[in-house]
Amino acid sequence: MVDTPRAQVALAESGSAVARSVSRQAGFVVVANRLPVEFVEGDAGGQWRPSPGGLVSALTSVLHKRNGLWIGWAGATRQELPDEFEGMGLRAIDISDEEYEDFYLGFSNATLWPLYHDGIRAATFHRAWWQAYQRVNARYAAAIAESVAPGGTVWIHDYQLQLVPQMVRNLRPDVRIGFFLHIPFPPRELFMQIPWRREIVAGLMGADVIGFQVPLAAANFSRMVRRMLGVTGTDVALRHGEREVRIGAFPISVDVAYINERSRDPDIARRSREIRHELGDPELVLLGVDRLDYTKGILQRTRAVEELFADHVLQAGQHVMVQVAVPSRESDAHYERERHDLEQAVSQLNGDYGLLGSPVMHYLHQSLDFDELLALYLAADIMIVTPFRDGMNLVAKEYVMARHDLRGRLVLSEFAGAASELSGAFIVNPHDLDGLKEAIALAVRVDAKEMRSRMTRMRRRVASRDVYEWADTFLGALTP
Ligand code: UDP
Repeated sequence: MVDTPRAQVALAESGSAVARSVSRQAGFVVVANRLPVEFVEGDAGGQWRPSPGGLVSALTSVLHKRNGLWIGWAGATRQELPDEFEGMGLRAIDISDEEYEDFYLGFSNATLWPLYHDGIRAATFHRAWWQAYQRVNARYAAAIAESVAPGGTVWIHDYQLQLVPQMVRNLRPDVRIGFFLHIPFPPRELFMQIPWRREIVAGLMGADVIGFQVPLAAANFSRMVRRMLGVTGTDVALRHGEREVRIGAFPISVDVAYINERSRDPDIARRSREIRHELGDPELVLLGVDRLDYTKGILQRTRAVEELFADHVLQAGQHVMVQVAVPSRESDAHYERERHDLEQAVSQLNGDYGLLGSPVMHYLHQSLDFDELLALYLAADIMIVTPFRDGMNLVAKEYVMARHDLRGRLVLSEFAGAASELSGAFIVNPHDLDGLKEAIALAVRVDAKEMRSRMTRMRRRVASRDVYEWADTFLGALTP
């Protein structure tokens, strides 16, 4: 869900975060690996500002309403965290440099991440990483136990904190505990590889409600728990001793009203025309926007585009691809390799098919701000989203919500959570290169009427449930 930019990684290596504790207790507590604020250096010494993204906006608004508290890591800043920020309480968890390596880069991102994404890369198991994971999870649990008011509600987020629900239950049996997993939950065969699989399941089962992005993940979890623990129940409710644990799919969404309004802003429209002009006013702009992660299928997409240029379905000068690849987890060898291979493929593609002044692929290894991203969404005729496995994929939903003009087509992997809602997309199996090429070629040829009808269908679906409603639905399920 929330990743750590490169600059912060560098800072993390040089010093540890400043921890602060607060004395007040809150009736509602959100817990995530990261706090919803980041420190931005500036001329006047810098300031704290909200982290970008719909999830932070939605949870922040719930915290405002409930006078709640957010517990998480402040990132590798030495700046003092305020106790309150825009009406919500903040409490920082201290994570040392070594724990950042072992708990975050290690167990979270090199053990759990690849395994939970279909084992697309081999997961690495290290006992020291597991120990750090336990230690950091226990620290979160202790902070929660101290901060939540009697009979309060705690909502814990994501794969970095799977042991926290049971740890909190042991310390504070009086509180309601919700857990939401933002990434996929793997099939049993893969999950069983984890040497500490029982501890992880026991940790999660401490919650009253465990939420997943899609029904498949909820069913994977539920079936595995029944077999492993021999508990009874269905795919939506498990009996665990005296308690019932509810399991459900709660597909996350985007800030629909914000994207709708912002994408109609004349400045964004102007910027989007400017982008097309800068790209040489081509007939068609194709776009990919991803963290540079091996789960996202960026290389596969680049291969498909290359073959389409070779087959003359795409023509230099008329067709241009833009690929934004946000730097991510660069100290991990798998990510380093992915970047190397991608950059080689992009350079080969441009070398073989580009013209002077008209490269066929523009590659940005950068993170863009949301306004620039919206302008790019509006400038792109075809958005290509091809993960081999993705919990949801918000980029796909953002693209759809930005296209109030009903132009634009989406090519979408069937293995993204978003695919179960976006049936108006050109759905592909990204492992099938010919199928992927065919879907892109179809999107290139589609007539205006079908394009509008597909986009209308997708917009209706995304607009029918925004990220605020997602939060309300989950919390509704958590309310006894
Ligand atoms: N994003 C951004 N700047 C960029 C690229 C992406 O702010 O240059 C945001 C994008 O708007 C989206 C999020 O990053 O909200 C990516 O979420 P997604 O679910 O697509 O993938 P994740 O990175 O969480 O795996």
